[in-house]
Amino acid sequence: MPLNLDTVRDAPKVLLHDHLDGGLRPTTILELADAIGYQGLPTPVADELSGWFLAASHSGSLERYLETFGHTVAVLQSVDALVRVAAECAEDLAGDGIVYAEVRFAPELHVEQGLALEAVVEAVLEGFRLGAQRAAETGRRIRIGCLLTAMRHAARSREIAELAVRYRELGVVGFDIAGAEAGFPPTRHLDAFEYLRQQNAHFTIHAGEGFGLPSIWEALQWCGADRLGHGVRIVDDVMLGADGTPRLGLLAAYVRDKRIPLEMCPSSNVHTGAAKSLADHPIGLLTELRFRVTVNTDNRLMSDVSLSSELVALADTFDYGWADLQWFTVNAMKSAFLGFDERLALINQVIKPGYAALLA
Ligand SMILES: [Zn+2]
Repeated sequence: MPLNLDTVRDAPKVLLHDHLDGGLRPTTILELADAIGYQGLPTPVADELSGWFLAASHSGSLERYLETFGHTVAVLQSVDALVRVAAECAEDLAGDGIVYAEVRFAPELHVEQGLALEAVVEAVLEGFRLGAQRAAETGRRIRIGCLLTAMRHAARSREIAELAVRYRELGVVGFDIAGAEAGFPPTRHLDAFEYLRQQNAHFTIHAGEGFGLPSIWEALQWCGADRLGHGVRIVDDVMLGADGTPRLGLLAAYVRDKRIPLEMCPSSNVHTGAAKSLADHPIGLLTELRFRVTVNTDNRLMSDVSLSSELVALADTFDYGWADLQWFTVNAMKSAFLGFDERLALINQVIKPGYAALLA
């Protein structure tokens, strides 16, 4: 089976790192802005708006990139808007052939108009339920788990961690810390991570995106993260010998030996300047060295990507075939914050049969 956007879209896929406020449909942003009288958008035309997001995201600066979220967050301040956007997210991911996704959002960003944190979480969960149901009616089955994000620069991480635990039977499967890394080390939020570990809860931390090894080391050895959001800079601890043979430093060896999942988002890293180009992206070497690499979208709107387009771009760049795509998918499923039996069922009943047909 040839590997292209159409065939990859039909292959079963798993997505672990996708931001709800980074994946809105441009037409939805315009409609929501219109409904609430939000005047801040750079243009009232959907095509121009997607182009604007893409250009603003290509600035090569993580800080500048994060500014684009001002607009998406501004239109996500009501229950109706959150339900709608979450439902469309579920439909869009299912339409892209994703069978399991973990989508994250920061409840604290959606309380500007007075919503309670609980109302934000419940609206998003309801949206995912609705969207998954609509997708199922068109023959696309998707399961979505939700990650609650706390912002690194703020001081609400403990509260958000408690919220994640309170909603864990209802669709919240984990916790995350996001935002600019420089100046805001994950150890600022130790209290939240200790609480989560005591509650036997799962969490990932954005670390080693634009910032170096200390951030990864802190996330793992101080905070106890189960996964690394990006983790790209772990490559700084991989040295090449005189004959070109890679040699792993202690931290890189720890990450590989412990099978710590790397939630890699290649295009997003190119856009924020964390990698020069896809060809230069460490995902190539880390895959070769068999780290637990997973492929993700990060922000579908800002980077103008889907998981399928991302996988096709990687296949084109690194000459990957279906077996590699299956490997990324199984890696992601193994790394999901879902019960072992459920992960196994998806791998054996959905993912492997799907790729067996493509590999045949
Ligand atoms: Zn992210």
